[in-house]
Amino acid sequence: MREYIPKKIESKWQAKWQEDGAFEPLADKTLPKKYILSMFPYPSGRIHMGHVRNYTIGDAIARHFRTQGYNVLHPIGWDSFGMPAENAAIKHHTHPKKWTYENIAYMQGELNALGLSFSKNREFATSDPLYTKHEQELFTQMYKKGLVYKKDAVLNWCEECQTVLANEQVEEGCCWRCNNLVTQKQMPGYYFKITAYAKELLEDLKPLKDGWPSQVLTMQENWIGQSEGLSFEFKLSEESREKLGRNFNGYEVFTTRPDTLYGVTYSALAPEHPIVKYMLEKKLLDDKTHEAIKNMQRLSNIDKQSAKKEGFALGIDVLHPLTGEVVPVWVANFVLIEYGGGAVMAVPAHDERDFEFAHQYSLPIRQSITPMDGEYNPNEAMCEYGIMVDSGVFTGLESIEGKDKIISHFEEQKLGKIVINYKLRDWGISRQRYWGAPIPIVHCKTCGSVAENRLPVTLPEDVEITGEGNPLVAHPTWKYTTCPKCGEAALRETDTMDTFVQSSWYFLRFTCPPALQEKVAFDKEWAAYWMSVDQYIGGIEHAILHLLYARFFTKVLRDLGYTSHNEPFENLLTQGMVLKDGSKMSKSKGNTVDPDEIVAKYGADTARLFILFAAPPQKELEWNDSAVEGAYKYIRRLV
Ligand SMILES: [Zn+2]
Ligand SMILES: [Zn+2]
Repeated sequence: MREYIPKKIESKWQAKWQEDGAFEPLADKTLPKKYILSMFPYPSGRIHMGHVRNYTIGDAIARHFRTQGYNVLHPIGWDSFGMPAENAAIKHHTHPKKWTYENIAYMQGELNALGLSFSKNREFATSDPLYTKHEQELFTQMYKKGLVYKKDAVLNWCEECQTVLANEQVEEGCCWRCNNLVTQKQMPGYYFKITAYAKELLEDLKPLKDGWPSQVLTMQENWIGQSEGLSFEFKLSEESREKLGRNFNGYEVFTTRPDTLYGVTYSALAPEHPIVKYMLEKKLLDDKTHEAIKNMQRLSNIDKQSAKKEGFALGIDVLHPLTGEVVPVWVANFVLIEYGGGAVMAVPAHDERDFEFAHQYSLPIRQSITPMDGEYNPNEAMCEYGIMVDSGVFTGLESIEGKDKIISHFEEQKLGKIVINYKLRDWGISRQRYWGAPIPIVHCKTCGSVAENRLPVTLPEDVEITGEGNPLVAHPTWKYTTCPKCGEAALRETDTMDTFVQSSWYFLRFTCPPALQEKVAFDKEWAAYWMSVDQYIGGIEHAILHLLYARFFTKVLRDLGYTSHNEPFENLLTQGMVLKDGSKMSKSKGNTVDPDEIVAKYGADTARLFILFAAPPQKELEWNDSAVEGAYKYIRRLV
């Protein structure tokens, strides 16, 4: 048997591959192609076994298709903006840029030693000024198209990270990154109008069902959260109309539970509702009520949500749209003017908030749904679906069918209409952090917020990261500029973009041949050739965040004329975790295995063979020293 010295063999071939550019795709669009992509890493400092597994799977697929004669694009890059660099800067008194690029250099060495067949000449880091430039151009196009807007909103705030978080980044009330409890804070910020694509994002999940894990599809479907509801008019009684000087005929309400309509016992208006305002103006209410409503109007939405429920009968009535019964109208502090026009139908038997309010003011509670199994308990709200009771011609129907039937009835009788709602909210992208892509907006006294056309807007390097406040605000000169439109003195936006913006289009960037990288974000024809990604590989933790945003960006860029594809990833493989002693490898648990040590001791081929043979790629993989040993012995026999 010949001696097996992995280091000698592997470094010889790795050098030759490098020299030959062995894994660069060919510039020939007539060849059949495969685009194989493993999710690019964050340059945290060192690679871990999860990376090794992710990249070994991608590498095996890429090599397989090369042997089949395909032109294969299998690139690597670095998702290099983000908070850890700032935290490291504080801890080690270094600069985020220095820390990031040193990590990249080190990890490049580690990936090289693994003998992965990446295309090297398309490699980039998302913190490269050139990437920022193209991204800011895309942002500007989106801004002009009305897909970016600014608003004040109550936002998720992480005190630990000192920044806002998107809804997708809050996991069970905690920060996705540091696990700190998330609080609410009113702040201005920029938003991507992802809700404009809600319907398409939902419908286009269907064609993915053969290529994506069903678990991921279900998670996205639930996150988008389409629901159907009914919008209808509550008509005021003749007497009430008279009382309001014939200025109002009624008002619109919206419900997602038309099946509970027969349980309506009152209706409630927001303190800011036009009818309430009219009644205040005309002094139609007694002094005490008048004052109390005025006080309600002064509360912010946050205070309203935390305040004790309070309400007053307005002395007017509406008519139930199905029974014609008289329904009393109240004003209540929990009804927000921003939602559903500031008016609700109240069904205390089947809604917790309505139940609490009815209890407090001794309003009638009328059951109209009975549980599928078990008993109805009149001492609490029964909010689940069930079977309709005491509901006229709809009695006996199950909730879901009843909803449809009632909506159809309203539409046929022209009493109301179906309304499709989504749980999905617009994507807040403003972060009060330094190490990110600056939002390319200039605030001018005369012109307002203007998109910057002198790109890229790069980060100043002479900053000190202290962890307090945003260094871009504190910098003595950076934010002072001139307006791109009128030339007057103006201020730069100091927020940077959520780092998920960078990972929303990096796969398109890889399709760009090196010669065009300076000029364009990506080339339309080359993108048409390489896209979609034939096989995407990464962790299940990206099921919603990254994968939804990447789908959104692909659709936006299609509509902006950059690409012709609807979906970025044809097939998705979510690889299982790497475990040791039964739990996920993690530094804090001290159960990690260092890939560098395994490669040094056994060679890259052993590490890769073990990873691929130890478990099916989608399943969890339990680390096993003797199986590593076994893989090594097996290769030694082949030499
Ligand atoms: Zn945090
Ligand atoms: Zn101006």
